[in-house]
Amino acid sequence: MALRSSDDDEAFRDEVRAFLEAKFTPELRALTARQAGVFADGDLARRWHRILFERGWIAPAWPTEYGGPGWTPRQGAIFQEECARAGTPRLPGMGLSLCAPVIMRYGTDAQKAFFLPRMLSGEHYWCQGYSEPQSGSDLASLQTRAVRDGDDYVVSGSKIWTTHAQFANWIFLLVRTSTEGKPQAGISFLVSPMDAPGISVRPIISMSGEHEVNQVFFDNVRVPVANRMGAENEGWTVAKYLLEFERGGGSSGVPLSVALERLVDIARNQPADGAASLYEDPVFRRDLARLEIEVMALAWTERRLAGRRRDGESIGNAAASLKKLCASELGQKIEDLSMRALGLYALPDQRGALGTGANESPIGPEYAVTPTARFLNGRASTIFGGSSEVQRNILARVALGL
Ligand SMILES: Cc1cc2nc3c(=O)[nH]c(=O)nc-3n(C[C@H](O)[C@H](O)[C@H](O)COP(=O)(O)OP(=O)(O)OC[C@H]3O[C@@H](n4cnc5c(N)ncnc54)[C@H](O)[C@@H]3O)c2cc1C
Repeated sequence: MALRSSDDDEAFRDEVRAFLEAKFTPELRALTARQAGVFADGDLARRWHRILFERGWIAPAWPTEYGGPGWTPRQGAIFQEECARAGTPRLPGMGLSLCAPVIMRYGTDAQKAFFLPRMLSGEHYWCQGYSEPQSGSDLASLQTRAVRDGDDYVVSGSKIWTTHAQFANWIFLLVRTSTEGKPQAGISFLVSPMDAPGISVRPIISMSGEHEVNQVFFDNVRVPVANRMGAENEGWTVAKYLLEFERGGGSSGVPLSVALERLVDIARNQPADGAASLYEDPVFRRDLARLEIEVMALAWTERRLAGRRRDGESIGNAAASLKKLCASELGQKIEDLSMRALGLYALPDQRGALGTGANESPIGPEYAVTPTARFLNGRASTIFGGSSEVQRNILARVALGL
């Protein structure tokens, strides 16, 4: 594992900085600064996706044969660091980061040739249809049925908490194709355009006031058999492979470090009893130091895991659960401390000042605009992608050999 940057790495960092300086325009910066959702709004996400695509930098983790940039792990980390520091839009990864590895491993040549270039260019915007109203942690109990009719499946049922379904034009979904044997044995993995007749989307507004998640209904939707990834009734294996990327893909150390930097910025500007600012307060500094140590430990663990990983492959089930668990819980601790640091500024309703269509002036200083909404949205991070309890169960099973 290389710990120091070479001259080439530093030249690459300069190249990334110059690119961000030129392309992450003041207008885009202003729009992104008011985003508090898990991902950037659809239009903003599309614009930034296109800019990275045109530069050839949209899919750092993809193998070069499919359009990845061929970076070293260090270059990938530098790119992520620079983007996080600049505060570029958080792009939804349902296509590029989750479905793409599945297509690369389980897709036919025709599926790879059709889907991967469109995912790369951003022509296809994806959402994930795993959870159902009665099936979340116990995902294998899912009930959305797909009945074979000639060259099609006829799909009926409902998916819920579907992030960005209102922007997506494609969905990947798990369906029940058999009720024989164990529940896991009767699941298949399909992909469908969102404008297929019979699909409808109902918004769910989160407690921060944002619209990121939805319920998606399937009413006798015809999905060609050619849109199945992997064999019929073997979708559970495909689904679990995708979850390894959902839980263990990317790196959280850098975004969490940047979140800590934002927290320091708040603390330097907030008053404290008996100290020049909250940043000088010994109790606050102790709490901040604890978080810094945890972020550093996670960042180094991620670097070690990245060093083990082959091009385009996942890091494995247990390591993915460990990363997901630590990163989501640590993110929430930073959000908690940010709320404490903000004091009264954490209370105003800033919804009118958030999002790309925002037209109200924020209440209080600029640093107080997004943290409360981020805190509220961040409650979901220990639920989506599999709850913390579920990750602990997976780790316990691995550690105890159950
Ligand atoms: C903001 C957000 C975005 C999401 N986006 C998507 C998406 O795009 N696509 C998608 O398919 N899904 C999405 N989800 C759904 C998410 O994956 C599920 O919410 C999650 O898997 C938990 O399922 P559930 O909500 O049904 O809760 P349940 O499974 O009912 O769990 C309820 C509680 O019981 C606990 N629990 C359950 N089983 C066990 C057990 N065996 N041992 C110990 N504790 C247990 C859980 O940890 C939780 O605390 C999203 C969820 C949220 C909140």
